[in-house]
Amino acid sequence: MSYLQNLHQHTTYCDGRDTPEDVVLAAIERGFDSIGISSHSYMYYSAYGKMTPENNEGCKREVRRLQAKYADKIDLFCGFEFDMFSIVDMAGYDYMIGSVHYLDINGEKVGFDRSAEEVRAVIDTYFGGNGMAYARAYYKTLAHLPEYGSFDIIGHFDLITKHSETHNFFDTSAPEYRRAAVEAAEALSGKIPYFEINTGAIARGYRTTPYPDPYITKEMKRLDFGAIISSDCHDVRYLDTGYDMAKQLLRDAGFDCHYVLTKNGFIPIEL
Ligand SMILES: [Zn+2]
Ligand SMILES: [Zn+2]
Repeated sequence: MSYLQNLHQHTTYCDGRDTPEDVVLAAIERGFDSIGISSHSYMYYSAYGKMTPENNEGCKREVRRLQAKYADKIDLFCGFEFDMFSIVDMAGYDYMIGSVHYLDINGEKVGFDRSAEEVRAVIDTYFGGNGMAYARAYYKTLAHLPEYGSFDIIGHFDLITKHSETHNFFDTSAPEYRRAAVEAAEALSGKIPYFEINTGAIARGYRTTPYPDPYITKEMKRLDFGAIISSDCHDVRYLDTGYDMAKQLLRDAGFDCHYVLTKNGFIPIEL
C-alpha cells in the first residue's frame, strides 16, 4: 500500500505562494491521499510581516472550512510549524511541527535560515568565523525544543546544512559535527516521536538531497524515531518533489516504513 501525503505545507497565510484552497485542489488533482497545512508560527523577532497572530488564526479557520468543503475528496489536517522561540497560541491544531530557525544569542534572536551570504555574516559576527561553533550552537538549541511545547515532528533536523553542498562553513563528516547532531537527537529521543525527511531545499534549489543527511538518518533509526516524508512546500508545483529519493534514503538507513497522519492518528506505511 502506498499513501501520498505532505504535512509540511506553507500557504499565503505565511510565506507560501498558494492559498490553502489552491493547495487542497492541487493535492486532490495529484492524487494525494491527504494533506496538512502548516503555517509558520508568528515570530515576534521576525521581520517577515505576514506571519502574524491574526494570520495564524485565519489560516486555522480557513483550513477548518476547507476540511468540511472537501471532506468527500481528501483528508485535510490543520498543522502548525512552530518556531521554538515563538510565543503564540498552540491550541486547536491536529499536529505540531517543531522547528528552530533562530538562535538566541544573549537574548538576541539571530535568523540563519537565510542566504549563504547572511549565514556567513552570522558565523563571522557571532562565532568569530568558526562554522563548527555555529553548528554546535544550533544543535545545542535544538536539544531544548521539547521544553517549548508538545511536538509530533522535528522540522528539518539539520537545517544548518542548507548551503553545505556549495559552501564549506563546517565539515558535516567531522566527528565533532556528528557528535553534536547525535547529542541533539538523543536529547529529543522519546520526547518527539517523528522526524521528517524534508525535501524542501531541493525544490528551492539549495540542495540536491533532503534533510537530514544519511548519517543522521541512520542515527534517527537507531534512536527509534519514526520517519515522516514531507516537501516543506511553498509552491504547489513541488508538492511531492524528491519523495522517491526520500523513500530510498529511508530504506538505505534501515527504515522499513514511514508514518502518515490519519483521522486515527499516525500510522506506519511500508516503504
Ligand atoms: Zn522551517
Ligand atoms: Zn516550513
